[in-house]
This record gives sequence, C-alpha cells and structure tokens, in this order.
Amino acid sequence: MMEGESLDNLHLSQTLPLSQDSFMELWDNVLSYDITTLPATDIIHNGSCRTDGVDMMLINEQALTKDFDEKLFELPAETVTKDGITTPPASTVPVTTDYPGEYGFNLRFQKSGTAKSVTSTFSELLNKLYCQLAKTSPVEVYVSKEPPQGAVLRATAVYKKTEHVADVVRRCPHHQNVDAVEHRSHLIRVEGNQRAQYFEDQHTKRQSVTVPYETPQLGSEMTTILLSFMCNSSCMGGMNRRPILTILTLESPEGLVLGRRCFEVRVCACPGRDRKTEEENSTKTQNGTKQTKKRKSNPPPCTTSVKKSKSASSAEEEDKEVYVLNIRGRERYEMFKKINDGLELLDKENKTKSKVSVKQEAPLPSSGKRLMPRGERSDSD
Ligand SMILES: [Zn+2]
Repeated sequence: MMEGESLDNLHLSQTLPLSQDSFMELWDNVLSYDITTLPATDIIHNGSCRTDGVDMMLINEQALTKDFDEKLFELPAETVTKDGITTPPASTVPVTTDYPGEYGFNLRFQKSGTAKSVTSTFSELLNKLYCQLAKTSPVEVYVSKEPPQGAVLRATAVYKKTEHVADVVRRCPHHQNVDAVEHRSHLIRVEGNQRAQYFEDQHTKRQSVTVPYETPQLGSEMTTILLSFMCNSSCMGGMNRRPILTILTLESPEGLVLGRRCFEVRVCACPGRDRKTEEENSTKTQNGTKQTKKRKSNPPPCTTSVKKSKSASSAEEEDKEVYVLNIRGRERYEMFKKINDGLELLDKENKTKSKVSVKQEAPLPSSGKRLMPRGERSDSD
C-alpha cells in the first residue's frame, strides 16, 4: 500500500514538469504564427505578384531619374578639351533611362553563357553585364536609321544606388598607380579603336569615353564596340562593392543625345558563376515570395474554425491533438472558454467514471491565455 502510494505520488509529481513542457511547446507554437500579418486578399493578388516586383523595381528606377532633366545632355557644347574637341557639359547626375530615340538606338550582347571560363557574359534577365577586370566585352550597337555624319557613342559609368549616385565613378588608387596611360583614372575603356577619346567634365568631374559611330560594314546590321572595365566592383577606394550602371549614348556631333541605353555592370573574377548565382537568386526570390503567399493564403492550423476545436474536445483519448483558437473580443473568448471548460470537465468526469486514468499531458486550450489555469487544474486532479 505504502509503496503504491509513493509510486502514485511520484507519478503525479512527474506530470507537472511534463505538462509544463507541453505548455511551453504550445506557447512557442502560438508565438511562431504571426496571424496578424495574414493578408486576406493575397489569393487575389497572387497571380500578378511575380511581375509586380519587377514592375515596381522599374518604376522606382524611373522615379529615381525622372526628376532629372533629360535635356541636360543636350545643352549646347561648351567644354573644350586640350585637343580642341568639344564635349557637352555632363549633368550632375546622368540620366539612366533607356531612350531609343528617332534612330532606334539599341544594344545587344553576345550570348556567352555561364561557363566557368567565360570572361564576359550578359544577363538579359537582370540587364546586367558580368565581366572580368580589363577583359573586353563586345557590345553590339543597332540603329534603325543612319545617324548624322560625325555621330559618336559615349560610355559613362554611374553608381546605381541613390546614396552613391552623386559620387563620380573612378578607378581605385591602386589600379591607377600601376597604370601608365594618360586615361588611367577611367574605369571604362574602349579597346581596339584608335579614335577613342577620354573626357573628364570640368565641373562634374565625371569621366566618359567616346568613339565615332561607324556605319555597319557591308553585310552587317550592327557595329560592335569593345568595352573593358579597369577595376573590380570590389576594389577598395574605388567602386568598393557599389553596383554601377553603364550609360551608352548616341550623340550628334554637337553633343545632342540621340539615343540612350543603360545596363548594370559587375566586374568580378567569375562572371559566369556570379551571373548564374544572381539569376538563380532573382528567380528564387520571386518564387519564394509566391510560395510564402500561397502558404499564407491557406489557413494555418492554428486559426481554423470552431469546428476543429469542437471535434478535438469531443474526441476520445486517441485524439489528443491540441488546437489553438484565436478569438476576437474578451466577451466571446470567455464564452468559448466556458464551453471548452465544460467539455473538458465532461471529458474528465467520463474518464473518472470509466476509471481510465489518462495523464493529461496536453491540456486542450482555447487560446494561449488560458493554458496556465488549465495546467494548474490538471495538477489538482
Ligand atoms: Zn581597382
């Protein structure tokens, strides 16, 4: 008898920490669901979400540059270099919106893929060129009609992010020091063209390089220029990991902008790998958002209706699963609590009558709040 009693006591004393464990688990469960952020209309928006993200980005970028005067590049030429060549004064912040203009100015990049060995590759998905330091990237220039005689192509680099856009893009001190050419501070170079000219705006200090526009050779519909970038995106004291855009403009001999195209550039050791990674991340992010929203649109188990709670409470021992019901309003909560308490009591009485002793390790709550009293009550059982 004495042994039996002490065993019972032992058992009882063990149910306390057990029930508290399950309470803690429950509480964690309750907290892990952020129910308040569940948007009711997500299902409707879901279909368009994928492109929304992209559209938003574009809108933002356009909004960023919208305020700047597009005609700034088109002011009459007044800056004269030591060569006696005129160059238009650059705007403080260059325009980065695409503008095909009346000559249908457009760019295309060779399809280089994402192989490890590739030194330059362009992502259509991200409108981004990935290239190695000082390696040439062929850029194909298309026009729908012949630009005026003496037209030039100008390449300018600008920081992509608003917080950096005021800074002038230059090579890092290290790469400038190890180079002897006159235009050693320029990030962008045009290779294989003796007529390339390097400019630095007197006022803005922005640098650019121009080449005369050449009509496509017989049998070809485009002209190709070879750009190279003379610093890594990661260069300390230079780009310093700040993303850049390259602006390519078609300009009249007087410096009027006839067309403009922009693309992002990343200068790195593994262009193929980085392009692949960033394209995958971009796709993943979009899919991830979609999946999250899909999951949210399905009601999580913790917010399901009273029906489930009832079925749980009226169930016998085999259904010990605990459901959490979130109830809006104190009054309604008290009402549900009473119902649940009643059902719980009924369950217990039934159990006592049938002399089936079942340890209540997971007391049925109607919400997190009332878990504690439940735990206490089970102790007193
Ligand atoms: Zn550098």
